[in-house]
Amino acid sequence: AAPRVAVIGGGFGGAACARALRRLDVGLQVTLIEPSKTFTACPFSNEVIAGLRELSLQQFTYDKIAAEGITIAAQAAAKIDVLARTIGFADGTTLSYDRLVLAPGIDMRFDALPGYDEAAAERMPHAWKAGEQTLLLRRQIEAVDDGGLIVIAVPAAPLRCPPAPYERASLIAHYLKTKKPRSKILVLDAKDNYSQQKLFENAWKELYPGMIERIGLSQGGRVTSVNPATNEIVTDFGNYTAAVANVIPPQRAGRIAEIAGAADRTGWCPIDPVTFASKLVPNVHVIGDACIAGGIPKSASAASAQGKACAAAIVNTLAGRPLDPPRLDGACYNIVAPGYGFSLKGIYQPKDDQYAETDVTTSPLDAPPDVRQLEAEQAADWFKTLTVDTFG
Ligand code: FAD
Repeated sequence: AAPRVAVIGGGFGGAACARALRRLDVGLQVTLIEPSKTFTACPFSNEVIAGLRELSLQQFTYDKIAAEGITIAAQAAAKIDVLARTIGFADGTTLSYDRLVLAPGIDMRFDALPGYDEAAAERMPHAWKAGEQTLLLRRQIEAVDDGGLIVIAVPAAPLRCPPAPYERASLIAHYLKTKKPRSKILVLDAKDNYSQQKLFENAWKELYPGMIERIGLSQGGRVTSVNPATNEIVTDFGNYTAAVANVIPPQRAGRIAEIAGAADRTGWCPIDPVTFASKLVPNVHVIGDACIAGGIPKSASAASAQGKACAAAIVNTLAGRPLDPPRLDGACYNIVAPGYGFSLKGIYQPKDDQYAETDVTTSPLDAPPDVRQLEAEQAADWFKTLTVDTFG
C-alpha cells in the first residue's frame, strides 16, 4: 500500500511540506490537517495594523493544494497516539499514518504572565497570530486619542519572528505621525539586544524622532504582570497605564505537539536537525515555529524551507536512500515605513546536532534612500514568491 503521511497544520511549514511530499513522490498518500478554510499570514500583518494594507491580502485558501491530490482534512487534530500511529479528531473519527509531520506553529502561554489569559487578549491583543487579533489591535489604534500611550510588551526569546515587534513599533509610529502626532510608543522588552537593532534605532531617529521609546531588560523593561481591566502594565521597575496595550506573551509550540509528547519542558519540540525527526517520539517530525534546534529561526521563510527539507528526508528514508543535510536559506525583511526596508539574510545548516547560522548579511547602516526603497520592493516580492510557493 502507498505510504501514508499526515501533516498537522496548514501554515507556512505544513503547507510547504505537504506540497513537497506529493511532488517528490506522487505515490504517497498525503493528508493535510487544518481546521481553518482560510490561512491568514503574519508577515506583512504589521502593515494591516498600521492601516497600510487590508487583511484580505494576507489570506490564502487550500484549493490549489487540494487540486494537487493532497487530501485536506478540515478539522483540528485533537489526539495523537504515537504508538498506534493514529490521529483522533473531536468528532470521534481517527486517521492512521506511517509518518506524521507536526507543523502547528505557536500557542500563547496564557499561564506565564500574571493577568494575561485568553480573556485578557480580547482587551490587550497580542496580534501574534494573524486574523481577528490583527484587526482588534488596528481598531484600538484607530480609536486612540491624540496623545495616548501605546505600549508594546515583548517577551524573552525564543519567540515567533524576533524582529517583528520593532517593525510593528515603526509602522504604528508611521500611522501616529500623521494622524495623532502627540501619541507615543513605549516598547517594554524582556531582552537587552535584538536583531537588526542599530538599523531600527537609526530609522526611528530619522523617521520618528522622540516617538518611540524602548526600555530593555537591564533598564527594567521586563513585564511582570498586566491588568486588563485598567490597561495597566507592571515591569521590574515601573508601572504604566496604556491607552493601547499590545501584549505579546511568552510562547510555546502549538498545543497538539505537547499532546503528542513531542514538546519538552521548554514547551518547544527538540528535533534531529537533518531529518526534523522528533527526539522524543517515534515516526513524528516537527517543523516550523514549533521545533527548536540551536539557531533555527522562527520565521515563515524558515518554516517553508524546513517543510521542503523535511519532505525530502521522509521520501528518502521511505525509499532507503541516503539523506542530504539540509541548507535553509533565510531572508528576513523589515519595513519601517512605506518604501523603507532593510533585511537580514543567512544560511542555516546542521552542526553538532543543532542549527548554526552562517554567511549572515545585514543591510548597511548608511544606505541611501534608493537602497531602502529597493529592499521594501524586494520584501513585497519575497512575500509574493513565498505565498505562491506555499499555497499555489
Ligand atoms: P503557522 O504558519 O502559524 O501555521 C500553523 C498552522 O497550524 C495554523 O494554520 C493552525 O491553524 C494549524 N494548527 C494548529 N494546531 C492544529 C491542530 N491541532 N490541528 C490542525 N491544525 C492545527 N516571518 C517571516 O519569514 N518574515 C516576516 O516578515 C514575518 N513577519 C511576521 C510578523 C508578525 C507580526 C508575526 C507575528 C510573525 C511574522 N513572521 C514572519 C513569522 C511567521 O509568521 C511564522 O514564523 C510562520 O508562520 C511559522 O510557520 P508555521 O508553519 O510554523 O506556523
